[in-house]
Amino acid sequence: MATKSLTPEQFQKLLLSWQHQHGRHDLPWQQTPSPYRVLVSEVMLQQTQVMTVIPYFERWMASFPTIEALANATEDKVMNHWQGLGYYSRARNLRKAAIYIHETWGNEFPSDLKTLQEIPGVGRYTAGAIASFAFNTFGPIVDGNVKRLFCRYFGIEGVPGTSAVDKQLWNTAETYTPIINNRQFAQGLLDMGATLCKPKAPDCHACPFTTTCNAYQTNRVSELPTPKPKKVIPTKSGHFLWIESCGKLLLEKRADDGIWGALWCFPQIDIEPEKMDDLVKLQGSFKHTFSHYKLDGNVWFIDKLGEDNPQQQWIPFNSLDDFGMPKPIRTFIEKHLSNV
Ligand code: SF4
Repeated sequence: MATKSLTPEQFQKLLLSWQHQHGRHDLPWQQTPSPYRVLVSEVMLQQTQVMTVIPYFERWMASFPTIEALANATEDKVMNHWQGLGYYSRARNLRKAAIYIHETWGNEFPSDLKTLQEIPGVGRYTAGAIASFAFNTFGPIVDGNVKRLFCRYFGIEGVPGTSAVDKQLWNTAETYTPIINNRQFAQGLLDMGATLCKPKAPDCHACPFTTTCNAYQTNRVSELPTPKPKKVIPTKSGHFLWIESCGKLLLEKRADDGIWGALWCFPQIDIEPEKMDDLVKLQGSFKHTFSHYKLDGNVWFIDKLGEDNPQQQWIPFNSLDDFGMPKPIRTFIEKHLSNV
């Protein structure tokens, strides 16, 4: 039996009523939602849970309260504020975005979707979020939560993330998004996806859409969205050098691209352990999981220096907090220094 979906107007009305009663209204970035605050929160929320983001957001806003403050901050200071959140290219892109907005528009954000996407790192979703939350105007948004809600409600089959399915999801968002006063509707979509139409055990009995939800009516809630085929993540080894002298540690700023870009790390070497005759001993190991592979990190103690490298710097133990580092590297250093 085919399930008839609500019209956009009916859908909006029901969602707004649910949002009014049950949605989230007190997140820090919802207070005075300037375009800058929306941009920072949205970039932080990509890949990261709300509760993790809140303290980072507040610390960020205390240090970089305006676009201008962020545009004028050093890359090291910016990266330091991001450490622990992962996916560090987000921090670099935020700083680039601030510099672009500062230099191109004198710190003023445009409000139309197309121009917003000229900002480095701002794609269709983030542009829609800024238009919706900061300007309260038309801005379709399709993130992971909205994809799940739409796939279930409209009975959309196929793996989200593939171009045909995403096209369908964005078309649906454009049709169902209000032309004006979109702030609460957009928040309602995100909140319903995050708190009610959850990945596992969605709370259908509390949902206002049960009578017209395709997945619910056809008993396919656990089948939609269509899951991605499982892929095995490979494990790679990485070898790093612990070089210390007189209360200082030699660290290297990594290149902008690649993993842990622009963060401070132990110098990394490519050679295999069996060829490392000169190395004194294994200092310790750590493990870290990236989205596309797992890293088995080995840290080798060495008292010999190689060539001068302008990317490397001797950092006193008591200044290590001032440098942005990947979380596993900081944890490793802290653990080792506390045992000395
Ligand atoms: S009825 Fe259940 S599956 Fe359908 S939209 Fe509501 S929470 Fe999601």
